[in-house]
Amino acid sequence: MENKDTGWSVEQSAEIYGIGNWGADYFSISQEGEVLVHPHGNGVSVSLRKIADGLLDRGLGMPVLLRMSDILDSRIKKLHESFASAITTFEYHGKYRGVYPIKVNQQQQVLEEIAEFGARYHHGLEAGSKPELIAALAYMQDPEAYLICNGYKDAEFVDLGLYARKMGLQCVFVVENPSELELIIDRSNTLGVRPMIGVRLKLSTQASGHWNHSGGERSVFGLNPSQVCDLVDRLRDVGMLDCLQLLHYHVGSQIPNIRDIRDAVVEACRVYTGLVHEGAPMGILDLGGGLAVDYDGSHADSAASRNYSLEEYCAAIIENMVSTLDENDIPHPNIVTESGRATVAYYSILLFNILDESRFEISELPKELDEDAHELLHNLIAVVNVLNIRNAQECYHDAFYYRDEIHQRFKHGSMTLRERAFAGEIFWHIVTRIAMLTKEMEYVPEELQKLPSMLADIYYGNFSLFQSLPDVWAIDQLFPVMPIHRLKEKPEREVVLADITCDCDGKIDQFVGQYTTSDTLPLHNLTNEEYYLGVFLVGAYQETLGDLHNLLGDTNVVTIQVDQDGHMRYTRELEGDSVADVLSYVEYDPKRMMQRIRQLAEEAVRAERITPKDRRMIMEAYEDGMRGYTYFER
Ligand SMILES: *Cc1c(COP(=O)(O)O)cnc(C)c1O
Repeated sequence: MENKDTGWSVEQSAEIYGIGNWGADYFSISQEGEVLVHPHGNGVSVSLRKIADGLLDRGLGMPVLLRMSDILDSRIKKLHESFASAITTFEYHGKYRGVYPIKVNQQQQVLEEIAEFGARYHHGLEAGSKPELIAALAYMQDPEAYLICNGYKDAEFVDLGLYARKMGLQCVFVVENPSELELIIDRSNTLGVRPMIGVRLKLSTQASGHWNHSGGERSVFGLNPSQVCDLVDRLRDVGMLDCLQLLHYHVGSQIPNIRDIRDAVVEACRVYTGLVHEGAPMGILDLGGGLAVDYDGSHADSAASRNYSLEEYCAAIIENMVSTLDENDIPHPNIVTESGRATVAYYSILLFNILDESRFEISELPKELDEDAHELLHNLIAVVNVLNIRNAQECYHDAFYYRDEIHQRFKHGSMTLRERAFAGEIFWHIVTRIAMLTKEMEYVPEELQKLPSMLADIYYGNFSLFQSLPDVWAIDQLFPVMPIHRLKEKPEREVVLADITCDCDGKIDQFVGQYTTSDTLPLHNLTNEEYYLGVFLVGAYQETLGDLHNLLGDTNVVTIQVDQDGHMRYTRELEGDSVADVLSYVEYDPKRMMQRIRQLAEEAVRAERITPKDRRMIMEAYEDGMRGYTYFER
């Protein structure tokens, strides 16, 4: 419905931000122009704007990381239901048992909720290190679930796993390299426990996408076929071949193409068949992670997307397993997948407010240049005077040429500061006009294509990219970003987003658009009212990879539950780091720092630069700063 006052509709907003494409039934826009979360993937919904207001009323400032518990519940449910449905369709005899790889989001409350929501499906955990196993043991105590131990293992790690086994848990050691096997044999004999052993396979299948290097023959992890045979021989020699129960592979995370998933499972089934023929009991095939998230909603075979649905993923796996294993009458194993990203990505949303903007404006030029102005300045002005749509590219080159010449002269002392400043203004005037001309061009030469985004306005967001969205910086990961309100109004501006670190890398300049990605994000003009944006699908890999760049710490985190009637509960609140917290992470001692400031102030009192009353105010300000949030507070 078009809004009569604004000539814009929420449907148009939905289109430009692509929310229907990437939202996966969890996100939509209300007729009031606010983003709605549908935490159960069905009709019940809550407005993000109302959630943000509720947080502010409770004194929790932006930025806030929201966790919608019910979305996690729904993801686990969908994963298990999709496998169950494929298992029925293809008459598969084994069971599906998912495990959650802890490294994808290790936060205690995430682990606890996975254990809670996964309990009815016996959803297990995957630990890739000793600390992760220690965390897992405290939360995963279901004897029917699997506890998969990947990663390098020392004696302490192995002993813990063996004790877990002794207590009745299905803890499996996945052998990642040949030397680990001896340690497992040795510790099991010493402790008198029969271990469950698995082996990680190096597949020859290699997937496309960001993470292809974690699979394939040249991958760092896993055993090649001849090493797998050595492992079988060694286990047989020591009378432990009956312990070999699992085959594992992990091609990589975010696999965009279903063909790679199919190829990998077929190859693994062949190896599994070989192991059964060798006399190992087996019984479990662990396909690792890789189930991708459609971040840009394009449903395509590209890094930020995937060309398959969850249902297709499950069907492709089960169908290929049935056909490959049945050829040799191999009993169907239980299937494990280690889906991390697809399980937790949808569940978290980063909310922040916009603090400020900087507009890019064309600089005014004087009508005429002084006769005695430097010749190079006259040359630049000449470019301004001849510029048109047909010679834009040539003018672009000329502008750069003259500007560089002027910089050189300035460096050598033959041009003044004023002349150089003036040259800068003319130069940007030319570049801006060329950028505007590109909008009317039928064909935009490649070197001019980036211009409009170079000249985009900047909105400053109250967040740190390095802390909250590290993959945007590290691997150009794309996340959907959009305003969570005012969606009845037309967004009049095209902007890039900068964070508050003042680091030139602390910016977002790739956005999910309707059909393609874009260098700028359409946003609304700022008014006196606070303007809120949400970054979506940030539940996987972002929280612990983040760092303390500029000493901006963890954000506030709030968990929200929504019942079937749409009633909201704020179930958990974690206050973000205080300034004192982050300082102590980098080895400062806040108490000692207070002392030092007190000394400085006392000396100032003694020298009569300040009064004792001033001292009290200074100390209070310093103490308040220490206790406060690291982000911008209104
Ligand atoms: C990282 C990792 C995963 C998780 O992969 P996703 O693509 O997030 O599902 C699973 N298994 C192993 C061994 C991993 O290293």
